[in-house]
Amino acid sequence: MTKPNDSSAASKLGPGSDRGELGLVATPIGNLGDISPRAADYLKSADAIACEDSRITIRLLQHLGLKKPLLTYHDHNAEEMRPKLLGRVAAGERVALVSDAGTPLISDPGFKLVRAAAEQGLKVTALPGPSAPLMALILSGLPTDRFLFLGFLAPKSAARRAELEEVATLRASLILFETAPRLVQALDDLLAVLGNRPAAVARELTKMFEEVRRGTLRELHEHYAEAGPPKGEIVIVVGPPLAEAPATGDDLDAALLKALGAMRVKEAAEAVAAATGRPKRLVYQRALELKQQASDDDGDG
Ligand code: SAM
Repeated sequence: MTKPNDSSAASKLGPGSDRGELGLVATPIGNLGDISPRAADYLKSADAIACEDSRITIRLLQHLGLKKPLLTYHDHNAEEMRPKLLGRVAAGERVALVSDAGTPLISDPGFKLVRAAAEQGLKVTALPGPSAPLMALILSGLPTDRFLFLGFLAPKSAARRAELEEVATLRASLILFETAPRLVQALDDLLAVLGNRPAAVARELTKMFEEVRRGTLRELHEHYAEAGPPKGEIVIVVGPPLAEAPATGDDLDAALLKALGAMRVKEAAEAVAAATGRPKRLVYQRALELKQQASDDDGDG
């Protein structure tokens, strides 16, 4: 019988052996207790482990009492490493892919590896486990029936706002990663583009100082602007556009005309965008059109 951690046994298997497999193994996002028994067994039986940062993966292997050949696979060497890793799988080895934390491929390397493995007809399996975006979503108290994971948005505000405008009208919860130093600016951008929706900031998930702060985007922005950037890793979840959002262009026009009666174009657009969850840029454009129409009409009279 092959001992599960006998890596030399697998290398004796010839090309085309059924054993050859790429296994995508989810690892803890902060609490080592979250490695599943099946994931641990898989790592034990792997001939090699492809990882992002070997120093981080070694800590996990030490926790499991394992020693394994580690091969790094990250953005800077992926082109060169992909054929090597797949060559091992084709030769009958079991290669596990892990990321530093969580589920590989989710804002982490691996998608092109899986695509290439599939193209070559190689077996790919997944050992599911922790993933920060899903954990944040289920803790957020926001609708979970439809959601869109946006990963990390652009670091600069203008580009980030443009990305948000693309998804502003989607009837879905949005999940995004953000770094602590950029959280306040990100919340400001979310508020400006998406309106004052309910949201949650989840941080340090599965760790000692796990925290989920729920509130409207404005409340969250105010809180972190005052308290300063929080420590640790962060996921932001934003609810879908507000239910009372005008469904039709007529409703939008009515809301804008009312607001234009009381404020300047920019303020009116901001208020209506915030109240309706519509993209600010589009609302502003429509506000300008309505203003223009109104002054044309005045001119006619
Ligand atoms: N593949 C990972 C997963 O499935 O969770 C995500 C990797 S991504 C490079 C890292 C980002 O995930 C962090 O910047 C943070 O936004 C989020 N994240 C990871 N661990 C977290 C944790 N324990 N609490 C909150 N957010 C976390």
